[in-house]
Amino acid sequence: MESAEQISEILKLANSKKIPVIPRGAGTGLSGMAVPAKGGIVLDLSHMNKILKISIEDRLAIVQPGVVYADLEKALAPHGFFFPPDPASGTVCTLGGNVATNAGGVKGAKYGTTRDYVLALQVVLPDGRIMRTGSKAIKSVSGYDLTRLFVGSEGTLGVVTEITLKINPRPPVTTTALATFDDLEDAGRAVSQIMHSGIIPSVLEILGRHTIVAINQNMDLNLPEVDAMLLVETDGYTREEAEYQMEKVIGVFNNNNPKEVKKARSLQDAEELWKARKSAYAVLARIKSHFVLEDVTVPMGKVADLLKGVEEISRKQGIQIATFGHAGDGNLHPQILYDGYDPDQVKRMEAASADLFKLAIDLGGTLTGEHGIGLSKAPYMGLEHDPVAMDVMRSIKKILDPNNILNPGKMALDG
Ligand SMILES: Cc1cc2nc3c(=O)[nH]c(=O)nc-3n(C[C@H](O)[C@H](O)[C@H](O)COP(=O)(O)OP(=O)(O)OC[C@H]3O[C@@H](n4cnc5c(N)ncnc54)[C@H](O)[C@@H]3O)c2cc1C
Repeated sequence: MESAEQISEILKLANSKKIPVIPRGAGTGLSGMAVPAKGGIVLDLSHMNKILKISIEDRLAIVQPGVVYADLEKALAPHGFFFPPDPASGTVCTLGGNVATNAGGVKGAKYGTTRDYVLALQVVLPDGRIMRTGSKAIKSVSGYDLTRLFVGSEGTLGVVTEITLKINPRPPVTTTALATFDDLEDAGRAVSQIMHSGIIPSVLEILGRHTIVAINQNMDLNLPEVDAMLLVETDGYTREEAEYQMEKVIGVFNNNNPKEVKKARSLQDAEELWKARKSAYAVLARIKSHFVLEDVTVPMGKVADLLKGVEEISRKQGIQIATFGHAGDGNLHPQILYDGYDPDQVKRMEAASADLFKLAIDLGGTLTGEHGIGLSKAPYMGLEHDPVAMDVMRSIKKILDPNNILNPGKMALDG
């Protein structure tokens, strides 16, 4: 695809023949979002990959949907600016995919997610009409917020063909530290106290015991095998600003019985401290033949409860679950490791996922903080959203897509 007009023609035809159309960026979605569940046309948007404009004075970038996240970062770097959501898949995923899934990443606690940066969109509706939403102004309260309706809509309401993004000046200084805790309660308290300390770290990551043990078994890092490890980064426009925040964090660590606290003295030190966190996903992915990476998210004060609950589920279902994630915004990644060729283990994995979703909702959280609903979490939508909310979502889908041609079968909208 190369233009909104081409996509409009395809959608008009598909709508008249009731053929499903599935928008696709890079296909890195983790809940089956771009899978053509009911057949149809897969609309590859990766060739619409031009950065149309970068305006520092207006603090925005205008891009086509197929631009890869990292390519925008590269283009912004010489201006000293960045687009903060920073998904871990940033070197491959597209900005259209980021908008459609409301992608986020390690900097979510301080900088929010894609939703917080989308100022305006061009969207092709299922009947082929081309619509513009929002404006290039940083502030607007004009009319219903149609832009936000499309952010996170997983390709079910329209095809995004142009995106106007707010961008930020990049704080040039970062500081990094790591703390380990023998007791999960201490780590959980440290997370809450950091949030009470008057600063917001740019990164606050957690690794649970099973993840640490797995990393030790597969890499030469010799990590202490503790209940929890916290990795923190503070940033600022001056060294003093970043260091002031880090002092607060280290004060909190020291008040909560850490086994060890390490502060990076150089960029190389910082890279060493990041090694365990950066290797977690790949190490865990190699342990069993199959894995499911969940992304349940809870209020920040409940992170320790979520970690404890995950361990109970792992014991109850007799299946290995290793957890790491973004303690700073309550978004954890329990990675369920199983043998997909063993029907009994598949059943246990499914039961563990269902238990995890219930736990997150019971703790006041959500099924998904990053990876979206797609196919895999569709059966659980009713756990989180009451019947009225589900009815409103389905009504919106019906108004925009009465023939249900756009990405059907996703997000439990078909009912
Ligand atoms: C190793 C790995 C790490 C990851 N880390 C993160 C992470 O840190 N944070 C995070 O949020 N996600 C993460 N993800 C998930 C994934 O990368 C994101 O969901 C990403 O935003 C998907 O982008 P994509 O271009 O691959 O979209 P796709 O997978 O192609 O599509 C995703 C959804 O968006 C829709 N879509 C795509 N483009 C458009 C468009 N132009 N208009 C309308 N709908 C569209 C599709 O129909 C589909 O429903 C990770 C995935 C992997 C494999």
